[in-house]
Order: sequence, then C-alpha cells, then structure tokens
Amino acid sequence: MGSHFQTVVDLDATQADAPTLATSGLDWLVKEGIVRAELTNCVLGVPLGHPPGPLWAKAVGQADWEPSDGLKIETGRTVFHGGQGDAMFAVCPHCAGRVDLYTDEWDVIEAAWEPFGKAIETWHNTGGAAVTCPRCRRASDLTEWTWDDDYYAFGYLGFEFWDWPEFSPSFLERFARALGGHRMALVGGKF
Ligand SMILES: [Zn+2]
Repeated sequence: MGSHFQTVVDLDATQADAPTLATSGLDWLVKEGIVRAELTNCVLGVPLGHPPGPLWAKAVGQADWEPSDGLKIETGRTVFHGGQGDAMFAVCPHCAGRVDLYTDEWDVIEAAWEPFGKAIETWHNTGGAAVTCPRCRRASDLTEWTWDDDYYAFGYLGFEFWDWPEFSPSFLERFARALGGHRMALVGGKF
C-alpha cells in the first residue's frame, strides 16, 4: 500500500511572502491543535515533519481513522500534483471547453498534451506560462486552467499532510482565512 497525501496549496502566496505565510500557517495549525510544533520523523521521504496534534479530528470530515503521519511544508516554486496518474483532461478558463489529454484507455494524446507539458516546464523554470485553448483559440495563464480531479496546482506554498483522513471543507475555509483569505487548492493522491 502506498502513502496518501493531501496538499493544501496557497494559490496567492508569492515567492517573496511564502516563507512568512508558511510560519503563520504553521502557527495557526499548532494553535488549533491540528499539528504539533515539534519536528519528528513522520513524513515519507524527508527526515522531519510536524506530527498530528491532539485536536487533529477538527480538520477532517470523518475521523474514522487516526492520521499516521505528519505535515511537511513546501515553499518555493512548485508544480504540485496528485502523484500516481495524471489529469485526464484540462478545462479552459475562457470557454470552459474540455481538452482531453488521455484516451479512456489512458493513452496519452500527444498533440493535446504537448502544449501543456511545455507550459508546465516553462512555469517551473520561470514562474509564468500560457496555453492557447485548441477550442476557443484564446491563450490563458497556465495557473488559470482547471484539471481533472484537481490534479495540478501551481504555487509557492503547500502544506503537505501524509496519511490523514479527508479534510473537511470547513477546515479548508478556516485555514484559508488564517492565511489572509487566500485562494486555496487541495491536491491529493498517492505515492
Ligand atoms: Zn477555450
């Protein structure tokens, strides 16, 4: 069995303010009792993370099992994604047209995928990229596109929780408020 993760991505954090926001986000989570301030060996692939706090259940929809692992905070320009698999399609922010990236059998549709793959690479290198919609022919910022299963999020700050039950919408709203009312995305998956 792989490890599951849920990453709360702050879509409005910038390169410059991500470290400060990381600290204030962590402070809020600790104050709420959702994670502990200390660092322990509780996150896959990194030596130290913040383990679940005494009131972790406040953050989840159904507390039917205990989170086994902790929180890792990611700062810096990051292509957040859902781990295993990929987005089957992307949705244009202008025309809401769906651009299929894979067939129903999960064969990649190269011609459709290529401009997105290039844009993701460019965004990773520079922090800016656009994709022209094959349907309406308008170019949109890569970060404005939406994805099948919310597979991708592009940003500078992510709170990555390992092996927690699914977060509740009210927790995500409160967390967003604690971060100054920023727009948040939830990316989840398995490694
Ligand atoms: Zn379009």
